[in-house]
Amino acid sequence: MRRTGGCRCGAVRYTLEAEPVATRLCWCRDCQYWSNGNAAVNIVVPRAAVSHAGALRQWDSRAASGRHMRRSFCGDCGTQVFSESLENVELMVIRVGTLDDPADVQPTMVIWTASAPPWARIDPALQAFPGQPS
Ligand SMILES: [Zn+2]
Ligand SMILES: [Zn+2]
Repeated sequence: MRRTGGCRCGAVRYTLEAEPVATRLCWCRDCQYWSNGNAAVNIVVPRAAVSHAGALRQWDSRAASGRHMRRSFCGDCGTQVFSESLENVELMVIRVGTLDDPADVQPTMVIWTASAPPWARIDPALQAFPGQPS
């Protein structure tokens, strides 16, 4: 199935031509910043299956996993669209909120529950990991 998406203002648009390898909620501290306090919902996809148009700004940091993460944002509206580990050239991450239809993916996993705040609601139906799954 072909999926499309983009940032809030429309300056960045992308196409995804492969099924997600994983769909998961992430409670890592980094995701809490970009999701305004809640868990982020992400799909992990093959990099080769993603093409995009429009200018992205990038910000690199070291994640709690120890990986070097590069996060790509729309410079106009600030939406974070993609992230990628610089140690993993095969896969990248797309923020589910940027899909044109976020309803057609289904989270199966919740990760970094150890850094979730006490009020977090963690769905017991999801496979849970305290940190990064191996
Ligand atoms: Zn934008
Ligand atoms: Zn995260």
